[in-house]
Amino acid sequence: MMMRRLALASASQGKQACQASCRSMATLPDSLTDIGSHRFDDHKLKSSVSSEAYSEFHACLASGDALTKSAANEVAQALMNFALERGAVNYAHWFSPVRTGAAGSANGLKLDAFLDYDFGGKGTHGGLLKDIEVPSFSGSKLCFSETDGSSFPNGGLRETHRAAGFLNWDRLSSPFVRNGTLYLPSSFVSHQGFTLDEKTPLLRSQDAVDRAGVRLLRCLGDNDSQKVVSNVGWEQEYFCIDREAFLARPDLMATGRMLVGAQASRGQQTDYNYFNRTNPRVRAFFDEVQAELLQLGMPLTVFHNEVAPSQHEFSPIFKLSNIASDENILAMEVLEDVSVRHGLAVLMHEKPFAGINGSGKHSNWGLNTDTGKNLYVPGKDAAAQESFMAFVAALTRAVHLHGDLIRTGVATASNDHRLGAQEAPPAIMSLYTGDIMYEHIESVISGGDLAGYGMATTTVDFGTTSVSPITANLEDRNRTAPFPFCGNRFEFRAVGSTQNISFPIALLNTAVAESLDALAGNIEGGDSVRDAVAQMFDEHKAAIFNGNGYSDEWPVEAEARGLPNLRNTVDAVDVLCSDKNKALFKAAKVFSEEELAARQEIMYEKYINDITIEADCLLDMMQTGALPACAADLEAMGPLKGNRQNVYSGLDAEVSKLQDMFDALPADAEVGEQARYCADVLKPQLEAVRSCSDAAERLCADARWPFPKYKDVLFSHHFEAPQLE
Ligand code: ADP
Ligand code: MG
Repeated sequence: MMMRRLALASASQGKQACQASCRSMATLPDSLTDIGSHRFDDHKLKSSVSSEAYSEFHACLASGDALTKSAANEVAQALMNFALERGAVNYAHWFSPVRTGAAGSANGLKLDAFLDYDFGGKGTHGGLLKDIEVPSFSGSKLCFSETDGSSFPNGGLRETHRAAGFLNWDRLSSPFVRNGTLYLPSSFVSHQGFTLDEKTPLLRSQDAVDRAGVRLLRCLGDNDSQKVVSNVGWEQEYFCIDREAFLARPDLMATGRMLVGAQASRGQQTDYNYFNRTNPRVRAFFDEVQAELLQLGMPLTVFHNEVAPSQHEFSPIFKLSNIASDENILAMEVLEDVSVRHGLAVLMHEKPFAGINGSGKHSNWGLNTDTGKNLYVPGKDAAAQESFMAFVAALTRAVHLHGDLIRTGVATASNDHRLGAQEAPPAIMSLYTGDIMYEHIESVISGGDLAGYGMATTTVDFGTTSVSPITANLEDRNRTAPFPFCGNRFEFRAVGSTQNISFPIALLNTAVAESLDALAGNIEGGDSVRDAVAQMFDEHKAAIFNGNGYSDEWPVEAEARGLPNLRNTVDAVDVLCSDKNKALFKAAKVFSEEELAARQEIMYEKYINDITIEADCLLDMMQTGALPACAADLEAMGPLKGNRQNVYSGLDAEVSKLQDMFDALPADAEVGEQARYCADVLKPQLEAVRSCSDAAERLCADARWPFPKYKDVLFSHHFEAPQLE
């Protein structure tokens, strides 16, 4: 590989004497010198438009105003030149309709061309070459796109004959070039301005956090910060399997998970895969993914194997929530595209394989200011420590009062397989502070000072002279909590791997913004900061739980504390439009009542779709694949048939029951009722069929079983022979 030589800064900064000798010339691969070449970031904007247009762009970003025509044209021209230089002939407003599902999050885009005919002249326009204009892109095209939005889920917000959907660029999120197209990350609303996408509510919630955060900072004596932003660093887990195995499983293709499949002899008994070296085929695939993500300006912090066989995780450096969300969808697109080139298939589903670990998308969330403060770092001086406690108190209140809502943000049919299944936090929302912070909170409640909690450290000794001791956080990690404190952020662990993070983060931001406002209100009303924070902790500390969230005792204790335990998606979606939640969203200007009702309807519809597709797919696989195989097997086994007759007949009976239940779906009932039927009737029957099918799979002759098994799907590419020339 071509290597370039770059000067790197000395590691021993500040030590003047050492600097000259320590500064070395390091070699970096081309990919690292190419970072962000395909992303149109602020530096590129600055260097390609006039200083007036650049200043106007930032002023409009702050005020929310539209750019003047001339500035918009300049920005558009610069974007087009950037795109053409990278081989793009199209542009697209790239947006996230509310339609994520078992097949993975999918953004929408329609390719628009830079080229057009020159309709200004006289004469006919018969497609003669002389009529084609040089590529052009105007400010009005950049900042406005109207399209037929009728086939995107809208939850009844729009009648069929009022189909217009409007798109406009989210100016915080840099455009980029991919596959010969300039992508413009965009918001999507209806003619009436109703949100039809995942991004717009998130952006509105960021504004709510900003308003409330700055208000609280003023109460805490910070008069410098002008902006509070929410950041997210996501950790994407996924499975990567051989594409041929994927294509031979109708259930993986239709639903993203194996609806049936007996356990392999080797599963994850020893957690052998965790942090193991990645098998060469997947490593080659991921190297290509990483190279493309670097080009797109998305450096990763980690990539590693996860606990289950064929399971992996990667994470970029955290960003503003809306940018992080766009990057996540983009990264999912890149994973899928690159996997095809490598003969692999990526599974984003939260639980592709029952019996082994599922996948989440832990979303590390925090608040920062434009002055460079991280509001969830305990801080070194008294003022910073007081501010930290105030922001933790607000988060505690948010989780306590709106745990139901935060849970609804992670409610999908696929995530139901994961939450509460001893590999992910339960569906009860609680905050993990760590024992030392909790002791401090108790002392504040009993009248103690707010300051005093810094991040204490401890020394970890390796017990050998060869390895020196290290300094570590005094607070340990807790992976059983939905919201553990991580030293400088909180980790929202319940988010599912298929999800677009925009929705869960929008709900979290909205809930937190309300609590920041409530605390500010109490202080403005005359309470001292100390007393207001102490009172907030006292009223809401029931949301703090530092024990084992996987234990059987926790749901019982949580119930005694009055914390909601919304066990499945339908329970969670049922509460979305409560009076409390309607008022919360309205006050924060995130969802109007109509928009919230639409969101609820879309969530029910999605749930019904996910479960009925699973039922239909399973019926097909059993009736046309497994049962005929069982019949042939029974006949062939003759006197050796053993218990096969019973097992195969049992499967036949459960499949018939599923068919009857599927036919009896109350299709004319309200969507909430249909969703309830899916959860209470169809889903348990899917499980009943599965257990019979898995028993049959262990008996039926291997050659007759019509679908690849766990061992084929999970391990085939781990152990395959090298391709010899
Ligand atoms: P873990 O060890 O818990 O698996 P990872 O290292 O996989 O964590 O990922 C941590 C993620 O948290 C990264 O995306 C990182 O950029 C992000 N992160 C770090 N600090 C912050 C912060 N202050 N706010 C938001 N995200 C952060
Ligand atoms: Mg991680």
